[in-house]
Amino acid sequence: LTTADLIEDHRICVCVRTRPLNKKELTVKDLDVITIPSKDVVMVHEPKQKVDLTRYLENQTFRFDYAFDDTSTNEMVYRFTARPLVETIFERGMATCFAYGQTGSGKTHTMGGDFSGKNQDCSKGIYALAARDVFLMLKKPNYKKLDLQVYATFFEIYSGKVFDLLNRKAKLRVLEDGKQQVQVVGLQEREVKCTEDVLKLIEMGNSCRTSGQTSANAHSSRSHAVFQIILRRRGKMHGKFSLIDLAGNERGADTSSADRQTRLEGAEINKSLLALKECIRALGRNKPHTPFRASKLTQVLRDSFIGENSRTCMIATISPGMASCENTLNTLRYANRYGCE
Ligand code: ADP
Ligand code: MG
Repeated sequence: LTTADLIEDHRICVCVRTRPLNKKELTVKDLDVITIPSKDVVMVHEPKQKVDLTRYLENQTFRFDYAFDDTSTNEMVYRFTARPLVETIFERGMATCFAYGQTGSGKTHTMGGDFSGKNQDCSKGIYALAARDVFLMLKKPNYKKLDLQVYATFFEIYSGKVFDLLNRKAKLRVLEDGKQQVQVVGLQEREVKCTEDVLKLIEMGNSCRTSGQTSANAHSSRSHAVFQIILRRRGKMHGKFSLIDLAGNERGADTSSADRQTRLEGAEINKSLLALKECIRALGRNKPHTPFRASKLTQVLRDSFIGENSRTCMIATISPGMASCENTLNTLRYANRYGCE
């Protein structure tokens, strides 16, 4: 199978989402340099200067499966990205959905939703929307007769270590058995009966994630958060949906930071994002050389990248401001598979 075949059979879907300029960007009069001329094209208008100091815009075009502009809602993004993957887990498959992008670009807004606002309904993220549809699907006669149970896990990978967000950030070990099955030992798996149950777990996990941190964003930008919805039938795994809010990808500066810990964290994040890209590319090819072990993130997601019935979706989130141009281009290049082979 070539990458083109995988795209053809919808095993990999890659989308991009931009957001409106925020208050901070508006205050410093940053300009929006992104346009979405059609539903699958993103253009970046990068300001440049010639040697004679005349200014011009260099326009770069990227094509994706979908491009969502700054008026798109979580519900719309969800419908074209994670929604089709809900079917996959009912058909005994493994589904994975990533949000990838620089800090502040909207990964958490897209995946976890915004719980700070008053109107929670308007701000549900993909975790909650997927859960809602899982419970709707369970009611369909075909699936009802399977008598499936739904469970959720929520954990964080920080500096190559796994912490359980549903159990006071207990540090967990990752083990690989003789059959190369990867286990996160002691990870809490909570049974959930309705969307409301899931929302409670998300809130609980989120507050656990940021507790004791001086700044919520400073911490979350340096860790991957993994939320999983697991279907079980008579105790046996039937399907699993992993939804991942990745660490910010703007790590370039960190790797030359004076602080050793910061440098190590930066290197670890770079390593895991590169390994992730390799694993997604190898998806479905049964390549023995898929570098799962290259990072904790890809190791714990190992079973999501193998097997005939695995599907992945990547949502690349971008900040529209001119000041973010370099990071935005890096994000688009990472996510861009067309012509990457
Ligand atoms: P990240 O998780 O990538 O660091 P956040 O999701 O925390 O970024 O988003 C940063 C800020 O921008 C938050 O205040 C969030 O509410 C806001 N934001 C993100 N995406 C959107 C959007 N599509 N529409 C409106 N506000 C957004
Ligand atoms: Mg975030």
